[in-house]
Amino acid sequence: MAITRDDCEELDRRDPIGWVRERFTVPHGVVYLDGNSLGALPGRMAQVLAKEWGRGLVSSWDGAGWMDAPRRIGDKIARLIGVAPGEVLAADSTTITLTKLLLAALSARPDRSLLLTTATNFPSDLYAGEAAARLAGGSFRMVEPPALLDELSGAAGVAALYLTHVDYRTGEMFDMEGLTAAAHESGALAVWDLCHSAGAVALDCGGAGVDLALGCGYKYLNGGPGAPSFLYVRSELQGSLPNALPGWLGHEAPFGFEGGFRQAPGIGGYLTSSPPVLGLTGLEAGVDTFAGVEMADVRAKSVRLGQLFLEVVLEEAGGLVGVASPGDPARRGSQISLRHDRAKALVSELAAAGVVGDFRPPDVCRFGFAPLYLTYREVFDAARKVATAVVGASR
Ligand SMILES: *Cc1c(COP(=O)(O)O)cnc(C)c1O
Repeated sequence: MAITRDDCEELDRRDPIGWVRERFTVPHGVVYLDGNSLGALPGRMAQVLAKEWGRGLVSSWDGAGWMDAPRRIGDKIARLIGVAPGEVLAADSTTITLTKLLLAALSARPDRSLLLTTATNFPSDLYAGEAAARLAGGSFRMVEPPALLDELSGAAGVAALYLTHVDYRTGEMFDMEGLTAAAHESGALAVWDLCHSAGAVALDCGGAGVDLALGCGYKYLNGGPGAPSFLYVRSELQGSLPNALPGWLGHEAPFGFEGGFRQAPGIGGYLTSSPPVLGLTGLEAGVDTFAGVEMADVRAKSVRLGQLFLEVVLEEAGGLVGVASPGDPARRGSQISLRHDRAKALVSELAAAGVVGDFRPPDVCRFGFAPLYLTYREVFDAARKVATAVVGASR
């Protein structure tokens, strides 16, 4: 029995998190399936700056809580990734944060020198790993995902295994718990990039024993273009793991203006620079769109949206398009990637028809599902447009 548009409207009426959409400004007439690249604008964002910067001026560093923002927002993100308050900090860009954590991981394992990842990782993550290894006098290796376990048990001296939890191209999701355990068994630290997971997948990084993690602020967290990223350092490591890019804001006494670096205790010790307040304001507004929302409900809706999309596309255009994402929802994040020889043209044609996805070379059309602001009916309509476009492109 094929699902109908009426069924989708009924699903919307019963959606336990349907009310959250009102927290966003979503343009009319567009189905936005690219929240995995840049989340939508939270309505609250506009009000904040005129008051705090415009009127409060320098007094807002304390008065409006600007100085505390990295830790305060970190605590809000902690709930979304399944770790404790005091373990997460919002600061710096994703790539800088990753570099910082990888350098720290290398110095935490002085008897080991290898950074291990997959060749399928996001390019910036590959460049950062290679550079971190070079800067620290270590080495870098990337392998295909099926070779990871052999590599971990075989290669001597893996200091850290670092992986992106959900593959940006295919949406495939790694087994965080199993791979973290394998890393630990081999004596390595486990570092996870949560760019395509945070805010879309229910995570239990604490329960999985993850050592270090980071993620992007502007995708499913809706922090706005170029929003700061976040970093996680497991509390037991915070006493011994160095801040690899020390700066005055990570100092125990930033306003003591001492000549030598003494790392502040706790997560604040991993700050480098002054909090980027404008970016953090966007990030906080984005993270606050999750207030009162359970990640289990987000994940459940994400899985249903993905299944609905795939079902409708395959019903009308099956055989004409490849599916790059795993068929089992338990093994994928919040996106469906399709393969087609004319993927690039398809993505532009769909955008013109009001369905925004994106193209990833060589042949992938990527559609992300941000459960906070998408409805079932929209995704149903979008899937039909995708199917029609695929049929047209395949003639
Ligand atoms: C989006 C994304 C980035 C982005 O890095 P920036 O430094 O914020 O530009 C990095 N890594 C992964 C895996 C991503 O998905």
